[in-house]
Amino acid sequence: MKRKSWIWLLILTSIVLIVTKNPKVIPNLHSQIKETTVKVQPFLYSLKASLDNKLSGKTKSSNQKQVSKTATPIEDPLKNVTISNTYYFHFKKNVPQSVRNSFTKAVNTYNDTGVVRLIPGEKQPNKNSITFFIYHKKIQDITSNTVELGNGGPSSLVINHYAINSGQAGLNLTYPNLAVKDSVAVHELGHALGLAHSSDRHSVMYPVDQGESSLSRGDIEGLKSIYQN
Ligand SMILES: [Zn+2]
Repeated sequence: MKRKSWIWLLILTSIVLIVTKNPKVIPNLHSQIKETTVKVQPFLYSLKASLDNKLSGKTKSSNQKQVSKTATPIEDPLKNVTISNTYYFHFKKNVPQSVRNSFTKAVNTYNDTGVVRLIPGEKQPNKNSITFFIYHKKIQDITSNTVELGNGGPSSLVINHYAINSGQAGLNLTYPNLAVKDSVAVHELGHALGLAHSSDRHSVMYPVDQGESSLSRGDIEGLKSIYQN
């Protein structure tokens, strides 16, 4: 009898070892987990718009009356999920001080809403995080009259409707004079936190830089719909 139980123990241990070393053996364990990679939408600076405005003497918008009062839309990975409002953020090592300053201001802007809580700190398992980075990308199509200033987005791991977001926000240092700006930092951090593009020119999430760095009512409503639902 004793020898038999030893054999069973050996078999059980082997199974446990195989399963833990190779999770594919039990695919059902992962069926409730949904993972998305960072969805990136470039933030643009329109050379044409600024030129037009200079030539015609017009300032911002001629259709300001159509400004939407509705909430800024949400990025798909954070729709219909439950998520903590607390984030740990850190900068990649090569991020220069000027960019750190812009993102730190953006962090304060979002913290001031009271809707989210961004705390300096390294990425931790099962906690929301934001990584700030820089990159270089030259204009590809000169006829498009636009320059990419930055990009960012959420990247969620959803387990039974509970999401953990590893967001990213970055500035394009090929155009430092245009990209290292509070309006660009607040836009990209907005993406990392789950806000999508808005058609409202007063929103920081308008897809073309308007120099806007304070959140609109719609932006705050959008944040609330993610973190206070
Ligand atoms: Zn954008």
